[in-house]
Amino acid sequence: MILPSTKSFDSSPSVNPLNANQLHKLQPPPSQPQHAAAQAVPNAKRILQQMQLQVQRGAEEPFYVVDLNSAVERLQLWRALLPDVQPFYAVKCNPDALLLSTLAVHGASFDCASRAEMQAVLDLGVPASRIVYANPCKQPSHVRFAREQGVRLTVADSEAELRKVAEHHPGAELLLRLAVDDSQATCVMSCKYGAPPAEMPALLATATQLGLTVRGVSFHVGSGCFAPGAYAAAVDRAAEVFELARAAGLEMDVLDIGGGFPGRDTAALSFADIAAALRPSLARHFPPSSGVRLIAEPGRYLVAQSHTLAVNVIGKKRAPSTADLPAHDMYFINDGLYGSFNCVLYDHAQPGVRVLPPAAPAAAGAKAAEAAAADEAEAAAAGGGEAAAEVPCSIWGPTCDGLDCIAKEARLPELQVGDWLYYDDMGAYTAAAGSNFNGMPLPDKHYLPLHSMPVPICSHLQPAAGAATLLNNHLAAAAR
Ligand code: PLP
Repeated sequence: MILPSTKSFDSSPSVNPLNANQLHKLQPPPSQPQHAAAQAVPNAKRILQQMQLQVQRGAEEPFYVVDLNSAVERLQLWRALLPDVQPFYAVKCNPDALLLSTLAVHGASFDCASRAEMQAVLDLGVPASRIVYANPCKQPSHVRFAREQGVRLTVADSEAELRKVAEHHPGAELLLRLAVDDSQATCVMSCKYGAPPAEMPALLATATQLGLTVRGVSFHVGSGCFAPGAYAAAVDRAAEVFELARAAGLEMDVLDIGGGFPGRDTAALSFADIAAALRPSLARHFPPSSGVRLIAEPGRYLVAQSHTLAVNVIGKKRAPSTADLPAHDMYFINDGLYGSFNCVLYDHAQPGVRVLPPAAPAAAGAKAAEAAAADEAEAAAAGGGEAAAEVPCSIWGPTCDGLDCIAKEARLPELQVGDWLYYDDMGAYTAAAGSNFNGMPLPDKHYLPLHSMPVPICSHLQPAAGAATLLNNHLAAAAR
């Protein structure tokens, strides 16, 4: 196999020093006193305060509070625990433009599934070499778009796909997607994507016949995979394919370990546990001396915690007892299964609900209100503090469809129409797949100020970087 001499796939370090001109452009505006203050207040408190502020201002529609800092912190944690693996954020998980911009200026690369996703990322000034077009079954017009834009790294798992790529993008560089054990994941993928190891020799031979360059192997252990051993086992399987290729005279140099990493640590499993399982396996098969670049496609890991959803109780009625359930209150809220809560259906999510406490009375003064909100946030974070007694209830979305039930059996204190609820960790696979069925709008977004822009900021963005412009506008707006 002849590897291209041109630099089609950017493996440069994720964060590079910035020249003075770029740094100046990307710094938060000087008139931004709340940055320091915001940083001193823990994230949960600032989110709670922001929700209460919106309610005080008369909000009626559902809304998200977006904490872009959370995605930055997750990226930093990734780099601390898996420093040799370059993350390509899976845009499908949440294509919010400010989220993409934040990740872009902090040096992330991107996994795109379609023409629109590639366009969104390119529009931010991200070079094509920092994109993997990781959909194993692509529409020909999207493949041609990738060719026109210079996106070369892509994925295939069948002969037909190799032929399609050869026809529409002969200069592409391929990762062969390997089917791996995804039985430990919340959302399986190997039923649809990935070739079994036994098919790999034929795929390698076909690629060679077609004159395609195979750069390596990719896999996905399934989304929401809570078994550290599954990631390490998949690396072992991928190493076998590298061996097969070597035996056939092909030297591959990219391993893509996919996504699957949970969005939040739990008592049972942390990202550190997964990284600790992966590191020895990666070091054994793909040490730095092997020259194999390691990349990954984390989605929910980076962004799940970035969005908190606030919803309003718009209706209430009493459900009589049935064979299955006791009599209980039914609450209707203004976002549902056809909107953000599509995650209940598609992502097998079980979102945790909390009651939004009212803000402290304005008469108590801004300081007291802030302190009260902070205390409430602490109590909420600790599990509700001295909350009113919880009773069984069910929670329903706003569309005229009986299917639109978010939770058949929940427990909440008694609520009234007009009360507010909120849901943490709503950043992954929520609004991205939401619809406007029944004319219901998707929630608005309120962005918390960024703590800071990265220093040093990545120099990999192209000169008129849309990401920098978007974020600067955001920072300026937050400062007003
Ligand atoms: N890569 C590919 C090809 C995917 O299909 C997905 C999710 O569907 C991801 C990455 C992101 O997965 P996760 O959000 O579990 O990290």
